[in-house]
Amino acid sequence: MGKEYVCTVCGYVHKGELPDGFICPVCGAGKDAFKEIVKDSSAVKPDKPSVNLADSELSAMEMSIICSNLARGCEKQYLFDEKNKFEELADFFRNSAVNNKVSHNIRDLSALLNKDLDEYYPYANSIADANGDRGAKRSLVWSEKVTRMLQSLLIRYEKEGDKMLENTGVFICSVCGFIYVGNEAPELCPVCKVPSWKFEKVQGRM
Ligand SMILES: [Zn+2]
Ligand SMILES: [Zn+2]
Repeated sequence: MGKEYVCTVCGYVHKGELPDGFICPVCGAGKDAFKEIVKDSSAVKPDKPSVNLADSELSAMEMSIICSNLARGCEKQYLFDEKNKFEELADFFRNSAVNNKVSHNIRDLSALLNKDLDEYYPYANSIADANGDRGAKRSLVWSEKVTRMLQSLLIRYEKEGDKMLENTGVFICSVCGFIYVGNEAPELCPVCKVPSWKFEKVQGRM
C-alpha cells in the first residue's frame, strides 16, 4: 500500500508522495502542513512546556487581541454589556500599543508558532482530556489547525516573499481565524465549516 498524507489543517487526505510545492486543494496549506498517516500510534504523554505562561508578559497588542476576542465571545452569548466593556479594553490596549510597536520578524514568529504546536497544544490537550472538558478540546482543535495554517503561510512567505500576495486576496474567517490566500473565500471554512460570507477580506497593504 502506498503512503498517505493528511492535511493537519483541514483533514484532506492525499494518496502517494507529496511533490515539492504541493498546496492543499481544499485549504491552501503547504506541504509542510501534511503528516504521514501512521497506522499504529502509541500515545506519548506530553511534557509540561518549559516556559511558564506567567513568565512571559503579554504585550499591549496581545492584550488588545485577547480582549477583542473576548468581546466577540460575549456577543455570541448575548452578553452585550460585557461585550462593550471588553471592546473598551481592547481599544485602550490598542491605543497604548501604537507607541511601542514591536516588530517581529518571520523567524521570531515561526519560533513562537513552533513552540505552540510542539509544546503548548499537546500539553493543553492533555489537561483538557484529563478533565473531560469537551468545550476546551473543541476550541483547542480549531486553534491548533489555525496555528498550523499560519505556520504554513509563514513558510511559504519566507520562500516567495511579497510575490505570494500579488494578484490575490487574503481572507480571514471571522469565527475561527483561519486565513485563506486566494481569489475568493472558500465556500466553507476548512476548519470550522462556516459559509464563505463569514470571511472578511483583508484590505490594504500588509
Ligand atoms: Zn488542507
Ligand atoms: Zn473558520
